[in-house]
Amino acid sequence: MLEFIHINLIDRSPIVLWVSFFAIGLLLERLLPRAVKNKNSDSSYINFKHSLIYLVIIFGINFQFIAFINRVINSYHLGSLFKLETYASGSEIGFIFVTILGALLLDLFLYWWHRAEHKIPFLWDIHAIHHSDENLNAFSSTREIWIENFIRLGLSIFLMKLLLGVSSDSVVVASSLFAGINFINHCNIKFNAGFLYRVIATPQFERIHHSIDDRHQNKNFSGVFSIWDSVFGTLYFPEKDEYPPTGVKELQVETIAGFYLYPIRQWRRRLISMSNATL
Ligand SMILES: [Zn+2]
Ligand SMILES: [Zn+2]
Repeated sequence: MLEFIHINLIDRSPIVLWVSFFAIGLLLERLLPRAVKNKNSDSSYINFKHSLIYLVIIFGINFQFIAFINRVINSYHLGSLFKLETYASGSEIGFIFVTILGALLLDLFLYWWHRAEHKIPFLWDIHAIHHSDENLNAFSSTREIWIENFIRLGLSIFLMKLLLGVSSDSVVVASSLFAGINFINHCNIKFNAGFLYRVIATPQFERIHHSIDDRHQNKNFSGVFSIWDSVFGTLYFPEKDEYPPTGVKELQVETIAGFYLYPIRQWRRRLISMSNATL
């Protein structure tokens, strides 16, 4: 089974997988009622244009980036605290157990990384671009500055290797699947999943995370398994018809150049005020 996943998701690259998830997302937006009426159809178009640039950069650099991380891990002979993948060999049950546990632990790391992005000002300056979207749709997930993807992926590979002995190939496969699920979770669709919110993230769950409403701030950080929000006290269980407007107050960025200039301007502003404070 590992060989099947390797051939289909790594050697043939996650492009096919991601395009499939985009297609499913667009189809769901057609078939299911919209959660909210789009205020501005232009922003969906900008998300789409930005997604194309984002995907070209990601797939243009990804393999070299992963190879570079592997070289660092190998050249420093970095060991692992646990060797999770050894339990996967020899039996289907072992493989399934390790896959589920590995996916849960990767999602746990991503939960805390996401919380850090909201807590640490320099990280928020990058993540804010993703949150500034007032028209969530199938292309909103890739409305993020590409460097955010590489930091997240690089840290995921290092941590999963050093703590659990999980290979970079496995992390790339899981991250690609998680990203695909996230494309769908950002769709503008009306779908209430009832008690399932306690287990998995859904489009309504993600909309709460993106909400502009004060009572939804710093809630629903999980990417795939919402259990982490339950465990760490950040779960917001939405009402049946609760589909709030999204965005960031006083931040409207609707050009691709603006996406990239915003964090640079913010970092400059923060560095200047920090140096003024120390004088
Ligand atoms: Zn966020
Ligand atoms: Zn999001």
